[in-house]
Amino acid sequence: MSTLGEANAFTGVFAAGGGALVAQQRLARQAEWRREAERRERERTPRRTEAELQRIAAQGRDLLHGSQIGAQDEADAARVLAWVIDTFGDRIAVASSMADTVLVHLVSSYKPWVDVLFGDTGYHFETTLATRDRVAADMRVNVVSVRPRASVAEQDLAHGKDLFASDPTKCCHLRKVVPMRDQLADYEVWLTGVRRADAPSRAQAPIVVWDQANKLVKVNPIAAWSDEQTERYIAENAVIVNPLLSQGYPSIGCAPCTSMVEPGADPRSGRWAGQTKTECGLHVI
Ligand code: SF4
Repeated sequence: MSTLGEANAFTGVFAAGGGALVAQQRLARQAEWRREAERRERERTPRRTEAELQRIAAQGRDLLHGSQIGAQDEADAARVLAWVIDTFGDRIAVASSMADTVLVHLVSSYKPWVDVLFGDTGYHFETTLATRDRVAADMRVNVVSVRPRASVAEQDLAHGKDLFASDPTKCCHLRKVVPMRDQLADYEVWLTGVRRADAPSRAQAPIVVWDQANKLVKVNPIAAWSDEQTERYIAENAVIVNPLLSQGYPSIGCAPCTSMVEPGADPRSGRWAGQTKTECGLHVI
């Protein structure tokens, strides 16, 4: 049967009142078609060179950054996303740790079926994996689980059991940084949910920056959002949130490296608690 024929047949089933399951299947089919169209589009449009992307990052900074970090004349998230979509088309990736999914919700409202990259290290809480699955099923995005080259068992064999305890920087490099760098080679820009209010170490996070480590443009559309603004967006838009956020984990990473945090403490103090390490290495601020 032709694609058009399949579509008509599918629409017919839906019209006959197949219910929620059929509606879900239709959305899944639409997503599949869209992904295929975007894959073809990517093949038609070569990725721009590093020099071109660096020049675009500089233009983005001039256009969107105000007189200084946090100034009134800084562009808001809507303007930032309009520039990103207009400039990069389908070579856009959104990174998500599957904590509050605010950025995923926001970007998908402007760019449905955008690719959402989740670093699936093999060490996540079950609750986080369930949140990822819910996002994939319920939201109009294409969730991509980015996995390391080695399984946890293979890593244990090569580097000793529980590398996260003996050398967390190496563990993060192997399980997060390298796989994400490989994946990002297919895009020209990646969007992250980094906010200046996350932690003092992120207080100077820019909106647009050239990501030298990953060789593409990096954009933080909600860098200026306060905690209150973020919570308001979640409530007003019924954004999917990881239940761990309300169970004492205000910042969520891999299970072995994430601890509960006392109310009022630095939200990121539960990440690699008791160590000097504060970032996995993906986000160089
Ligand atoms: S957060 Fe911990 S378990 Fe996860 S990759 Fe880094 S060191 Fe390994």
